[in-house]
Amino acid sequence: MALIHLFRKCNQRCVFCSYPAERGADGPASLKTWLKEIAAMPPGLVQLSGGEPLLAGADNLCLLLAAVKKLGRSAELQTNALAAAEMTEEERGRIVRALKVAGGYFNVNFPASNPALDYKITRARGGFKKRLNGVKRLVKAGATVRLTHVISSLNYRDLPAFAAFAAKNLKGIAWLQFSYIKGVGRADGAKYLPEYKAVQPFLEKALFICRENKIHCEVDHIPPCFLGEFCRLNVDMVKMRDGVKGPHLEEKKRVPACRGCRFIKLCPGPRKDYIAVHKSL
Ligand code: SF4
Repeated sequence: MALIHLFRKCNQRCVFCSYPAERGADGPASLKTWLKEIAAMPPGLVQLSGGEPLLAGADNLCLLLAAVKKLGRSAELQTNALAAAEMTEEERGRIVRALKVAGGYFNVNFPASNPALDYKITRARGGFKKRLNGVKRLVKAGATVRLTHVISSLNYRDLPAFAAFAAKNLKGIAWLQFSYIKGVGRADGAKYLPEYKAVQPFLEKALFICRENKIHCEVDHIPPCFLGEFCRLNVDMVKMRDGVKGPHLEEKKRVPACRGCRFIKLCPGPRKDYIAVHKSL
């Protein structure tokens, strides 16, 4: 798997951004440099990230996706979907087709069930409505869409409401990932990292609602010991079972409290940045 940041520019200022624009100005970015970077990366899925990749424009993205396909790789296009609502139908259709041909899917950051909470998290005025329209238009254009709902101290109590919202308004998505916030970038420090045990009852309720509504779900960055009957939705368990190498082994580490755990062979432990803030599980 390879992650490429096309650039830092973005039309949101999410509190959980791990690659915020204020860290530094963009260097010269071009299709040629992106392709060179991708060719030098380890094999597997290419994650196109930013900043906001859709701001690269339909022409650049289609050329990039065609090159990814030519290298025999598939792509995940990470986006907040605002630009998907603003571009023309023709541009949207071209990107959807190019991504499909590359065997890929959109990964849309969708952090809230209502405009006020969305604004608090993304600081993009009018973002909620545009995002909702963006996702609906991508689905209508035939795209495979995964949603990522980043769990932070700002929205964890709203998890059941988000699940109900997704069931009602986001029909046609392929799957939904609940992903605990990473303590890096703008979210460095304790401010946005709730305790797992505080999140658990809300998350379990949300997962129950998703199951009732047949929404396929997975959970990342919250260990199986905090997922109750939904422990098997943790994405690391399959990677650990199959001996897959990746960031989960670098970002996470077992702690003394893991001793004797029934998941010990299938869980790499909690995130290190979580333990740096909360000291223990
Ligand atoms: S190994 Fe540690 S973090 Fe993972 S499920 Fe067990 S107790 Fe929880």
